[in-house]
Amino acid sequence: MMPIKGVIEPDEGEIMDIELQEDFLRRNRELADEVRLLLDKYGVTAIDVMGSIGAGKTCLIEAMTKRLKDKYRIAMIGGDVATTIDSERVSKHGIDVLQINTGAECHLDANLIMKAIKEFDLENIDLLFIENVGNLICPADYPLGTHKRIVVISITEGPYSIVKHPLIFREASICVINKIDLSEAMEVDPEKLASDAIKINPEIIVVKTSCKQDIGIDELIAKLGL
Ligand code: MG
Ligand code: ZN
Repeated sequence: MMPIKGVIEPDEGEIMDIELQEDFLRRNRELADEVRLLLDKYGVTAIDVMGSIGAGKTCLIEAMTKRLKDKYRIAMIGGDVATTIDSERVSKHGIDVLQINTGAECHLDANLIMKAIKEFDLENIDLLFIENVGNLICPADYPLGTHKRIVVISITEGPYSIVKHPLIFREASICVINKIDLSEAMEVDPEKLASDAIKINPEIIVVKTSCKQDIGIDELIAKLGL
């Protein structure tokens, strides 16, 4: 009888990690549902703002806060690996801001959001902006229980930033193309980016903005239904 050719055993991480990852994602979805229940109980509308570092997430949150702070009681959760720079910028507008520093993690998750929202007096908040960690990849996998997810892409990220990150554009309901004032200088066509987004997600609403020049902010607010 021939001996068997051999036995293959998975290297550490090869299989276990996939199972663990699926477990994490399932647990995250359950927690996201709990977050949503809690937000709805207090009538808080929450918006997850995703996008790369430097895309303009903070600038857009500031611009919307300026316009909306007399209409709604606004709060913000700022997600960042290490700093409080963005949260401090937004808190200057006189709203309650809480920082989450993720340390090694490159995304926020529903567990962190659950912890964070318990720090707020939800009774006195109507609108909660959540600035996700600057990253176009894994935030897509971790819904936070928010009512809307925005992904912000900027002209300065080049012509392929959308086609290279399809998942996050499938997850989001609004795609903001920011820094359109730099289109010519960068030779990046915002219309092409818009059609890339729509090809990936035919339902997505595209809004073109220049946060610096205050273009498109009112449209974004309208599209968010705020
Ligand atoms: Mg920021
Ligand atoms: Zn991550």
